[in-house]
Amino acid sequence: SAKVIDGKLVAKQVREEIAVEVSRMKHAIGIVPGLAVILVGSRKDSQTYVRNKKKACEAVGIKSYEVNLPEDSSEEEVIKHIASFNSDPSVHGILVQLPLPRHMNDENILNAVSIEKDVDGFHPLNIGRLAMQGRDPFFVPCTPKGCMELLHRYGVEIKGKRAVVIGRSNIVGMPAALLLQKANATVSIVHSQTKNPEEITRQADIVIAAVGVANLVRGNWIKPGAAIIDVGINPVDDPESPRGYRLVGDVCYEEASKVAGAVTPVPGGVGPMTIAMLLSNTLESAKRIHKF
Ligand code: NAD
Repeated sequence: SAKVIDGKLVAKQVREEIAVEVSRMKHAIGIVPGLAVILVGSRKDSQTYVRNKKKACEAVGIKSYEVNLPEDSSEEEVIKHIASFNSDPSVHGILVQLPLPRHMNDENILNAVSIEKDVDGFHPLNIGRLAMQGRDPFFVPCTPKGCMELLHRYGVEIKGKRAVVIGRSNIVGMPAALLLQKANATVSIVHSQTKNPEEITRQADIVIAAVGVANLVRGNWIKPGAAIIDVGINPVDDPESPRGYRLVGDVCYEEASKVAGAVTPVPGGVGPMTIAMLLSNTLESAKRIHKF
């Protein structure tokens, strides 16, 4: 049966490595990396994400700065805060928690973040550079970067392999496909309009699923021995759980683990990697800015 790709364990290792580097930097040049988070509105889920990001920063010695703006703020107000973080030398990473309120234009806001501090990797110029041969973005979006890190740390060969990414969102599927291509895989993208997705997926040595549909990928979609990275986080009813639901991925884990060579569980796979990669991007930024 398939090897379990333990994202929780890898994320812990990554955070420990970052803590060591942060302390080395502090002692050598007296600077610690800083991450600024801007939250607009009071969505409970966004508040939780921001709190978790702050806690994760503290645990590795990264300084965090937070700005909370009311739901009815104007785009200009948000951009004013971004501009002040852009020019603040103690801030090396800036992220605007998404989704933004409906009256705001995401692109105007994301465009305002300095591409050199865009630790989410969502600035159109960073995405553009990710898509170009011979160019590199300053930052790679955290969730797809976490997927690649898992493949690397589990020794999955990418060069020359067939990869299928299921889903084409700006934050996961599309950048994941670009990264696999940069790593010299031959990449197909399966999306909501794809005919015979199972047939295409079955050709893949590497599958990254980022759809948001519980258990979409069944055992018979998977080539024997393939590496499966499951990004999906989907609640399904479970009367036996105290919360009344549990979380499952886009891949039917039970079936996949009988066919695949390696597979990420949900929870405990890609999930914990996202924040670890945010910390990694913030450290990388501080190192680059201070030439450390
Ligand atoms: P999204 O809704 O923005 O995009 C979903 C994509 O799936 C779309 O491109 C769509 O074309 C495709 N799709 C929809 N139905 C399909 C089908 N039946 N067959 C094939 N493709 C189909 O979602 P997202 O933001 O990319 O997130 C995807 C999943 O990953 C969600 O479950 C989300 O909760 C999870 N997620 C996890 C993390 C993490 O682990 N840290 C981060 C981001 C998202």
